[in-house]
Amino acid sequence: MGDRRLDRLEVRTFKSEAEVRELSGFKENNPINKTNYKELIGDYEFDEKAQCCFQPEGREFCGKWHNLGYVVRLQDGSITIIGNICATNNFDAEAQISKDRAKYQNEKKRLESLARVQELVGNKAENMERIRTKRDALKLTQGRLSSFLSNVGIQCAGKLLAMARDGRRDVVITGVRIRPYVEDGEKRQERTKIPLTVSSLRGLNVLRANACQGVFDRMNAVARAYDAAEKLEEPIRNRDLEEIRSVLSDVDHIVMEADDLASTEESFFSNDFSSLPFLVADIGERAKLARFLLKEGGKQRAKEWLQEMEAALRTTHGVNKLEW
Ligand SMILES: [Zn+2]
Repeated sequence: MGDRRLDRLEVRTFKSEAEVRELSGFKENNPINKTNYKELIGDYEFDEKAQCCFQPEGREFCGKWHNLGYVVRLQDGSITIIGNICATNNFDAEAQISKDRAKYQNEKKRLESLARVQELVGNKAENMERIRTKRDALKLTQGRLSSFLSNVGIQCAGKLLAMARDGRRDVVITGVRIRPYVEDGEKRQERTKIPLTVSSLRGLNVLRANACQGVFDRMNAVARAYDAAEKLEEPIRNRDLEEIRSVLSDVDHIVMEADDLASTEESFFSNDFSSLPFLVADIGERAKLARFLLKEGGKQRAKEWLQEMEAALRTTHGVNKLEW
């Protein structure tokens, strides 16, 4: 097999017809057919269309106008051009020109990725600094959220996380309306259950499982990709390059997502959390939660506050009881 580097074609992209005409051996309207191809010299990307010199069997030549195609040398040493579409459609995969084109495109793509990686690596210091700043901020977000969740108690935290997971934002409780009546001389009750929406919470998305961790993971992937990019050695595989390039291109998006999470956190903490006790069935947990929300006033005050809120809700909705 030998050294893979020796197999590589030189990539040369001609940007104008004039550049091709300057090649020694170039001939105008020089037909290329299925048998006279020798080698690929480069490809062309012209602003102005040029006439294709492919010669189909039994005809003079193709003559279609193309912006894209290849510059090739023929067996007689002369040089001509062939449009991209004709080069693709008229030769089977086993033809030398097809093999050369595949190799050439591969190499061209590899060089483009390499250039892009070099450009991206050039921004390493700046981008890693951006990531560090956002990571620090996001760690603080994560800390504030986890401290909030542990303060509201396990039941409330569980409910909030489930709401975030399911995309629900309403704090809903069941109200029971009781209507007494007498039937056949016996006292009876008609009970109607009504779902009551106590409040709607904003910014619950910030509590989604993996919301912060997902961004941290992507930040780590960027750091790893920078390391890998700096350690790249020939022969460089296209697949490795492409992977590095795609991770490094993610930086802007990661920064945006970190900013999004920061503003979602802000929106979450701007909620009026006084509806949270309605998420909690256990009365002891509810009382603890009330004390946390009130911050002052002790046990007795917390108990009264809960009773006041429940009474207000019953009155507003005309129900006799609340059920958790
Ligand atoms: Zn053609």
